[in-house]
Amino acid sequence: MAKSSGETKFTLKLVVDEENNKVVFAEACRDFVDVLFSLLTLPMGTIVRFLENHRKSETVPIGCFSNLYKSVVDMGTDDFETEACKQMLLYPRSLWDVHCRRLKLNLHPTDGIKLFVCSTFTICKMCSYFSTSRCGCGMLMNVEIPCNGITVDKNIQDGVFVRGRSSFIITDDLKVAVRSTDLVLRNLNSVGCGDFSTVGERLVDVGFDEVMTLLECIFSSNAPLTDTFLNRQSLQGVMKTCETLSPDLGREIDESEGVITFSAIVRKHDMKVLYVECGEDFVDLLFSFLAVPLESVINVSGDSSTFGCIGNLFKSFKVLSATEVSTSKAVLPHYYTCQKQLLNIIIEQPQSFHRNSTKEPVALIDSKSHGGDQSSGGSGFMKRDAKFTVSDDLIITPMTSSSAICILKKLESRAKDIQVQEIRISKKQATSLLRASLVTSSALNAALWNSTSKKPKQET
Ligand SMILES: [Zn+2]
Repeated sequence: MAKSSGETKFTLKLVVDEENNKVVFAEACRDFVDVLFSLLTLPMGTIVRFLENHRKSETVPIGCFSNLYKSVVDMGTDDFETEACKQMLLYPRSLWDVHCRRLKLNLHPTDGIKLFVCSTFTICKMCSYFSTSRCGCGMLMNVEIPCNGITVDKNIQDGVFVRGRSSFIITDDLKVAVRSTDLVLRNLNSVGCGDFSTVGERLVDVGFDEVMTLLECIFSSNAPLTDTFLNRQSLQGVMKTCETLSPDLGREIDESEGVITFSAIVRKHDMKVLYVECGEDFVDLLFSFLAVPLESVINVSGDSSTFGCIGNLFKSFKVLSATEVSTSKAVLPHYYTCQKQLLNIIIEQPQSFHRNSTKEPVALIDSKSHGGDQSSGGSGFMKRDAKFTVSDDLIITPMTSSSAICILKKLESRAKDIQVQEIRISKKQATSLLRASLVTSSALNAALWNSTSKKPKQET
């Protein structure tokens, strides 16, 4: 993850339409395609953090994810159940982390699995993934111990994601396929370069910075290769993925899958949701989005064709992948589970750990609960019995720090034009909210449009 002087550089061969100064396609080795696919496996919170560090002054917002991330940053540690909760959202971990250690240029955390214990570990026999966790004895678990984590077999012939050793073609809109003469000709013909007269070849070096620019461009451009390598300065500043929303999304609620209830403050004249007042369960749900890898946001949403370049990359990832990605569920590490788990996610069960020296079993604590209290089961990230406001673009603030009058004034609303509706959401709406968070900056209205009642309330 860190840049070093011995940084890996890939050489990409760009086939360029010189007349229009546009990349037709790039020729790349398997190792580069692996790096490209690894972008899809980054948790959304990690992507936001990377892009903010990459271009500090003019970051392109990624749907509502940038606001979600900033809400975690701005929220006081006191609002979270434990300090570790804030840490696991700001630096989300993914089940891909271990596999990605084989990448030639790895953006996932490279430190592998670390385990932390308190200073009286031999008595407590508890450990945690986060150094900010509290042990059952109440002490901070800031002592790192060696752990018997998964070892990575460096002799595997396949890439991390891609099978075999072929070379590949990546089109400007990020369709990746095994290179063949037929495919080369088809791509050239499709852009009117069939006679080769206007086609040139360029070699470019790709390192950490270029991969960051590419990551930024897949959210902001329909021609990420051209924008990354030919006109570096043109930052579009708009999310270009298609903003079509699921029209079939009804109000039906499946009680069996859990329900979250909150109040929506709705403007009567156009039935727009201005903001939401909610408890910690809705905020837990929204914050857990930050731990979901990009590929899972697309996978869970069902239809990848509406995600533009990212959708193309995802489709290629599914076709070329050496590992199974057919499941329509996201898989997250166990510590991201919440009391009301409305997302279609599978929570990976924690493996059991042993101290390397004694083979004595060690209990892994839930870093979201105080003092490793296991009894409460899947707790959440936020303190219980708290109230929050959530804006349409998913800025989340504790209600203690804002007043309703202040918000309504800012939104230039009149009391007569406002009504409060109780909204109930289940899995279907939660999935829709996850999708909307990526493709629009108006996530609440996009996802909850069918959940609000359009009939004006009877005046009493
Ligand atoms: Zn202890």
